[in-house]
Amino acid sequence: MAINFNQAEFVLSAASPGQFIRDGRKQLAFAGRSNVGKSSVINRLLGRKNLARVGAQPGKTTQINYFLIDRKIYLVDLPGYGYAKVSKAERDRWGKLMENYFRSSGLLDLGVLIVDARHKPTADDVTMYDYFRASGCPCVVAANKLDKLKRSEIEPNLALIRDTLQLAEGDVLVPFSAEKGEGKEQLLRILKAFCETKREGENNGESEV
Ligand code: GDP
Repeated sequence: MAINFNQAEFVLSAASPGQFIRDGRKQLAFAGRSNVGKSSVINRLLGRKNLARVGAQPGKTTQINYFLIDRKIYLVDLPGYGYAKVSKAERDRWGKLMENYFRSSGLLDLGVLIVDARHKPTADDVTMYDYFRASGCPCVVAANKLDKLKRSEIEPNLALIRDTLQLAEGDVLVPFSAEKGEGKEQLLRILKAFCETKREGENNGESEV
């Protein structure tokens, strides 16, 4: 099942579990701290300028956005976290929504965690990675804003990210720049390969289109 990531359409924003999409298609969920560049990474992967909203305001952060890719799989844009200025009420809403998403069995197939290549992952990043790990689905980490690093900083920063998230040797960390496009082909290769593997006992939801 070859998937064309340039064929993407926005489907819906879910603010409550009743709106979560469950139609059998695989779901690739993207998570990251607010401002880490998650929207920019998604736009870069989909070859679009502004499909995922860059610089989205806090207050819009408690929605899960679904994009249908090539009518075959969903790219799921999980709401960003760690924005200092959100209210406690909004943080609580975020927590509930995430808990519900991760608890709903069978929704999630692959996690993509976006972290900042410049910094040690935050406690929230570690928690999010643990959410993915606990869900039992594979998770790829992309270290974004690579263009902001000096060459000599790249290796030590990637090592610090691996160490802080406690990545095992086989876990994938992709150096990425949404700005320059670096890492795009590597990450797309990983996502496409994953989408092409069939779930046990299923046919990738192709019959449900
Ligand atoms: P989000 O809140 O995680 O969705 O982050 P956005 O995609 O809105 O990006 C936040 C800011 O970081 C914007 O000003 C982007 O232009 C900038 N940005 C995103 N990715 C990169 C990158 O790879 N390199 C650089 N230099 N800036 C980036």
